[in-house]
Amino acid sequence: MPEDTLELRQALIAHARKLTASGLTKNTSGNLSHRVSGGFLVTPSGMDYDGLEPGDIVFVDFAGRATGRRLPSSEWHFHREILARREDISVVLHAHSPFATSLACLREGIPAFHYMVAVAGGADIRCALYATFGTEELSRHAVAALEGRKACLLANHGQISLGTDFASAHKLAVEVETLAEMYWRARQIGTPIILDAAEMAVVLEKFRTYGRQPPLPA
Ligand code: 13P
Ligand code: ZN
Repeated sequence: MPEDTLELRQALIAHARKLTASGLTKNTSGNLSHRVSGGFLVTPSGMDYDGLEPGDIVFVDFAGRATGRRLPSSEWHFHREILARREDISVVLHAHSPFATSLACLREGIPAFHYMVAVAGGADIRCALYATFGTEELSRHAVAALEGRKACLLANHGQISLGTDFASAHKLAVEVETLAEMYWRARQIGTPIILDAAEMAVVLEKFRTYGRQPPLPA
């Protein structure tokens, strides 16, 4: 379990800035957290990522008590609930990425129109029910939509992607956004064919080992 260190706070700021630099989110939308001993570090509420300093990052324990000179992200409820329930996860990334959010505004998830939806862990990427931002109700809906998954959409709001570290969460968020864009494009020109459950089971099985390269000979 990582400790709350200056290096981790700096890494959190660098990856929060990457959210805007990569176009996953704009201005102060979105938030990012990393599990640490006893709780998690999270971006402060409503502050531009560009100007963040390590002391602006907030520590929140699993009882929801925040320590720091700033208020934690308004979405600390879902960061806490997800990290408390998912021991396989260390990073929670939330972004209002444009294509994923557009789809979420229709209250639709991403079906198996492309086999890559399996990167989120299942045969689709669900859209959580709507609740007001920053509420425990939204947190409950997000947790439900993330059951057996590492990503979900949030109705009329955005997306959440999870990872074991900052890099894997960011990579998944980019993939979710890309899939949402491709699904949107496909729907402009016709009706996408959805892969059936049997095919997605094959894909999910292949994903257990996909991309793992053998070690180079010494
Ligand atoms: P915070 O700035 O409070 O993290 O809020 C941004 C957001 O995306 C709320 O859902
Ligand atoms: Zn949001």
